Amino acid sequence: MATPVPDEFNVYASADVRFEAAARKLGLEDSLYRFLKYPNKEITVYIPVMLDSGHLEVFIGYRVHHSIVRGPGKGGIRFAPTVTLDEVRALASWMTWKCAVVNIPFGGAKGGVICDPSKLSNGELERITRRYTAELIEWFGPERDVPAPDLGTNEQTMAWIMDTYSMHVRHTTTAVVTGKPVDLGGSRGRHEATGRGILFNCDRAIAKFRMPRVHTSVIVQGFGNVGSTSAKLLHEAGYKIVGVADIHGALYNESGFDVPKLLDWVTVQRKPLPDFPGGGAKMSASEILFQPADIVIPAAVENQITSDNAHQLQTRILCEGANGPCTAMADEIVDRKGIFVIPDILANAGGVTVSYFEWVQDRQGYFWREKEVNERLKDVVEHSFEEVIRYAERHGVNNRVAAYMLAIDRVAFALKERGIYA
Ligand code: NAD
Repeated sequence: MATPVPDEFNVYASADVRFEAAARKLGLEDSLYRFLKYPNKEITVYIPVMLDSGHLEVFIGYRVHHSIVRGPGKGGIRFAPTVTLDEVRALASWMTWKCAVVNIPFGGAKGGVICDPSKLSNGELERITRRYTAELIEWFGPERDVPAPDLGTNEQTMAWIMDTYSMHVRHTTTAVVTGKPVDLGGSRGRHEATGRGILFNCDRAIAKFRMPRVHTSVIVQGFGNVGSTSAKLLHEAGYKIVGVADIHGALYNESGFDVPKLLDWVTVQRKPLPDFPGGGAKMSASEILFQPADIVIPAAVENQITSDNAHQLQTRILCEGANGPCTAMADEIVDRKGIFVIPDILANAGGVTVSYFEWVQDRQGYFWREKEVNERLKDVVEHSFEEVIRYAERHGVNNRVAAYMLAIDRVAFALKERGIYA
């Protein structure tokens, strides 16, 4: 087993290892390699906010543009106590590759504010969001950089950003963010898009292995937007959800969960997931990933599968709902076990794909039916899945390396066509 090194948990180092491996395999020209290795620009903002107590606190926020080669920067904003500049850099680069894998005309960006949303009132969160937006007013814009929700932010956060931006530019500009409420220019189907993309990816993977849905067991770690929607849609489609987890702990039940009841328990009744009375063995949120199941979907946070625990995986398919759930040092172990990986930049790209649809609809001022959104999403995901799998077969590499190679190749090609200014 590989020896863990301190950098294993630095997600930017993980992102870099994958970029290096794919760039080498592609034989990327030296100048293009240098250009694409580093972010385009990054900024730190200090956000003074009056708390409800009357105490003034200064929060630290970041925004990183990794690439604007194929279009405006695109990427979420994360509110979490663990946010670091390196994490934001990694997430921004993954957005570049993700948008390129699904071939939508965006670059990659990401933002974050170091704060704990569970300890802040709505008013405090609104003030943080508005001041963060005001500090970044020249960075954001439908043609420049289009944020979206991520961990700790949601549709309400996007509505505040849209309003703040619009107040500054003096006209309502819905296309400045995606993941907005539907009545403010949001897209139908955006809320469920990441989970729906995961369903379409899982469908393609089991079709490849000739596994029927009803005999396919699934574990989902994380029960927020991505995890709970994936569990719901997979359950509705006939898969058997045998393991679930959130930050409070996990449950494993071979006979499968009644997901609508579980959703009601967690999201409507707001009770702790591990106390769900629907049965199951209790365990930690980490242990659940290593129980037997045909598909495991880590959909919570990064660095869950590491060089220390990857050998314990007992699954055939690993579908990465979260960004960076596997460290780069775990990749080799996962590979040796012959696990079919649907890498994050493909697996969770349903969200940014429908964000792209939202941006298109906002700019047209014409909104599509949900069925139309879902059909177009299915097209994009299925096509991208097949492209990555074919690329992997043709080049004799695993799916993750293939997804990176495909993405880097597309961005490098666009960069060559544009040329390098000055
Ligand atoms: P969320 O805040 O809605 O939910 C996160 C969930 O993970 C919660 O259920 C939380 O309890 C759980 N969790 C947190 N820490 C955990 C831990 N250590 N162990 C187990 N569970 C834990 O966030 P989300 O929007 O669902 O995002 C989840 C992941 O998916 C993130 O990596 C995010 O970057 C990625 N992602 C999200 C989207 C999207 O559209 N929301 C799109 C692409 C990728």
